[in-house]
Amino acid sequence: MNVSRENDHSIEMILSLFRWVFLIIAGGYYYIIMQGTSFSFLVLLLFGVAYMTAAEFALHLAPLDSKRYHYMTKVSVGFDYVAFLWLIVLTGGGESPLFPIAYLIILHVAVYWKFSGGMIAALFLGGGYTGILLISGYSFTGESLISYLFNCMFLIFIGVLGGIIVSRERTMRSKNSQLEDIARKDFLTDLYNHRSFQEDLRYCAEQEKQILIVLADIDYFKSVNDQFGHLVGDMVLRKIGEVLKKQIGTRGRAYRYGGEELAILLDSTNVEEARECLVNIQLAIRNTTFTADGERFNVTMSFGTALFPLEDRIISSMKLADERLYLAKRQGRNQIFWYDQNIEKGSRLS
Ligand code: GH3
Ligand code: MG
Ligand code: MG
Repeated sequence: MNVSRENDHSIEMILSLFRWVFLIIAGGYYYIIMQGTSFSFLVLLLFGVAYMTAAEFALHLAPLDSKRYHYMTKVSVGFDYVAFLWLIVLTGGGESPLFPIAYLIILHVAVYWKFSGGMIAALFLGGGYTGILLISGYSFTGESLISYLFNCMFLIFIGVLGGIIVSRERTMRSKNSQLEDIARKDFLTDLYNHRSFQEDLRYCAEQEKQILIVLADIDYFKSVNDQFGHLVGDMVLRKIGEVLKKQIGTRGRAYRYGGEELAILLDSTNVEEARECLVNIQLAIRNTTFTADGERFNVTMSFGTALFPLEDRIISSMKLADERLYLAKRQGRNQIFWYDQNIEKGSRLS
């Protein structure tokens, strides 16, 4: 699962818990300390309970990338804003001890809209708060004025600081994912590297995923280097990487196993589809035309395959795929060696 989404999700869970805590505190403060009896507070309380219960359901049950989840988390910012102003009105206006809830709202907004979000939230909360004080006849003089100015100043400070912290964290996140990409991919072909191949293979073995293991090797690649030079050889490798990615799409992954040897792991829940995909890869590579020194040329590839876990454990599946690649080479290259229930070593597919 996406790590940043999981992080944001844990923040949402904490904020949701905070809302319940504040609901209880606000209720206690209003009914016990202030001895309030207003009907409007009861409406706010019931509205809060209804909204927060719905939000809890969305947080726990909706998938993190679903529309419902996004809608609920973004709308909650609006809910918090309205509920905050309402609470301030009902719990003493300028004297309300619940004012610091505004800091949490600002931080929440900054999680999604970073610096600009933090600043806009601070301005909106400050504006709403000022409006309430004006309407309620707050005296903007002496200590009251200082307390008001401090409250507004802290809103701005929290907005700036929260925005900066979240922006920094987002920059780090994107740098981390770039570094992860660099560690997992091969620079020349942009395919996944050998290390990723071993990791993915181990993962598939642990999960008992049905996969088609393919080991592939470019035919007579040395002669491409000999005839046109290594730079052209590199260009061919790069282009083959592109073709593989395009043909495979979301059905699996291609790896640079080493040198001009590549590997593919294809989802083989539907063996026919995996077979068709591999045949298309072979054709697409064969039909790709390269140009160098005014000459046009094509390259072919040989493929050895094994079905895991249908055929055997992962290590022996790799060995089978390797042996079949060897047979594909020995029997003329430019072909796929596929498993065959009747023949131990498999047979030519196309
Ligand atoms: P076969 O059909 O038997 O596979 O013949 P081949 O010529 O492809 O095999 P061989 O193992 O004799 O040669 C592989 C060549 O691949 C030799 C090596 O220089 C070249 N090669 C490996 N990695 C790279 C690379 O990153 N760039 C370039 N340009 N060439 C590479
Ligand atoms: Mg080769
Ligand atoms: Mg080779």
